[in-house]
Amino acid sequence: MPTLRGALLLVLWVAPAGVVAAGIAIDVGHYLAEPGAISARGVPEFEFNRDLAREIERALRNKGHETKLIGEDGLADDLGRRPREAQGMDLFISVHHDSVRPRYLATWTHEGAERQYSDMFSGFSLFVSRRNGHLKRSLGCASAIGAELRRAGFRPSLYHADPVLGENRPFADRENGVHYFDNLAVLKGADTPALLFEAGVIVNRDEELRMRDPVTRKSIAGSVASAVEACLSRSADAASR
Ligand SMILES: [Zn+2]
Repeated sequence: MPTLRGALLLVLWVAPAGVVAAGIAIDVGHYLAEPGAISARGVPEFEFNRDLAREIERALRNKGHETKLIGEDGLADDLGRRPREAQGMDLFISVHHDSVRPRYLATWTHEGAERQYSDMFSGFSLFVSRRNGHLKRSLGCASAIGAELRRAGFRPSLYHADPVLGENRPFADRENGVHYFDNLAVLKGADTPALLFEAGVIVNRDEELRMRDPVTRKSIAGSVASAVEACLSRSADAASR
């Protein structure tokens, strides 16, 4: 019987360029009946989440990783089930797009319809829960994603940490836009390392257009995939020592 250490070395040996193939669950935030935020031009957040989650899945598969898309059909109304569906995977990423506190929303007319928007806020943010049993790895991957996005020219929004502008969520890694959000059901209930990713603020009129641009989406997905690969192989290295 090979030892565990031997088996891990074998995995490292067969994977290309020292990269360990991992399993990543990608959760499409919200569902059709409750689609989350509504963008400045009236598009439900669920649609943004699904498009980006698919792109992230593509980017990870291109790198040889196994993926599982959760909630893609828009019918997953039981949030508690989502992390359970990720059991056995190495990481759970919940994909979302952001809004702002209602008091900062103003009204404009777009294509004949009255819509709400706020151009005050923009940028990505990431969340991990201290009630998740794999906080270190969750935070490691969230920080890696933030760092990779910054390298690609994206900026963290930072307002969620503000007691007035946001919800006073403490920073876990300010530089990379990572916050603690301990009670998030999909994070605290996960048996795997887990993080929630808000890719951008879709009530911001300019940022909405960026988030709908396939080139931007590809760039975000590429950053997420590179970061996830790096953080998971670092954890595998540590486990094999
Ligand atoms: Zn959301």
